[in-house]
Amino acid sequence: HMVTVRYADGKGWYEPRVEARAPIPMDPASAVLHYAQEIFEGLKAYTTPDGGVAMFRPDANAKRFGLSAQRMAMPALPEEIFLKSLHEIIAIDRKWIPEGEDGSLYLRPFAYASEVFLGVRPAMEYLYLVIASPVGPYFSGGVKPVSVWVTPDYTRAAPGGTGAAKCGGNYAAGLSAQAEAIEHGCDQVVYLDAVERKYVDELGGMNVFLVLDDGTLVTPPLTGTILPGITRDSVIKLAERAGRRVEERAISLEEWREGAASGRVREAFACGTAAVITPIGVIRSLDGDFTIADGGPGEVTMGLRKELVDIQRGRAADPFHWVHKVL
Ligand code: PMP
Repeated sequence: HMVTVRYADGKGWYEPRVEARAPIPMDPASAVLHYAQEIFEGLKAYTTPDGGVAMFRPDANAKRFGLSAQRMAMPALPEEIFLKSLHEIIAIDRKWIPEGEDGSLYLRPFAYASEVFLGVRPAMEYLYLVIASPVGPYFSGGVKPVSVWVTPDYTRAAPGGTGAAKCGGNYAAGLSAQAEAIEHGCDQVVYLDAVERKYVDELGGMNVFLVLDDGTLVTPPLTGTILPGITRDSVIKLAERAGRRVEERAISLEEWREGAASGRVREAFACGTAAVITPIGVIRSLDGDFTIADGGPGEVTMGLRKELVDIQRGRAADPFHWVHKVL
């Protein structure tokens, strides 16, 4: 199925519908096709041990959707409409949620400029939709470290740009870098900052953390050029609650490389909705490749992963009330 809600200037959000998933008619002059005024979110619904269905922090996705809308000069969608639309699609597509441990129903809420015109200005009509797709485990046969390529050619976001928004254009601009990573035999691209090309921003679809030899976690700060990941935020809160030191500060590629050589950097991991927490194995760059420790999954990384997955799946207490029961 799909959920649709329309928006028109002066009228607000109207005509909410749940209907069979089908192509959406679109005029060739629809604004989104020309100027990419579009935003989206991604989250999962999954079964819990008691036979229910849950989502992880959907209110955080709703808030980020609002911030993305603001950046892209789009009207805010009330949080209640966002959450209700997720509930509706889960209820009607319950049978598409894979049973058991590993699978989930990936939910994709998005909104785009549907107004028909060719001038360059914020549109006055929008369509909000939710579609869903079952997904299997991100890793079949155990967690595998990802390999990453530090792109020398591309940046993801500059100060004042759209890096903190989840808009389609960011991903379009990243496709060449992702292709470059694959050419170099890597799973993901690492973006450096656009100004000095020195500091690590994030991966193509995940945030980055280092684990230092004293147990401290270090992650790049939210300065507007990286996506404020919900998994990133969850990792920080869990680590701090456990008494671990967390530093949100710039990490230079050199600190990473030298730390890996000296043993100061013990582990590195990436995190995001799709893979939750995943170790980073080898880092490739024009200045040479390096690995952290033996390139295998680190203890702190795997511990955090287990802690987070156990909360999500209802096997551990949920101290921050992150798990949102749906059915
Ligand atoms: N950075 C980028 C560029 C992403 O696409 C994602 C995935 N949404 C993330 C980070 C991780 O965000 P989250 O933990 O909210 O999935």
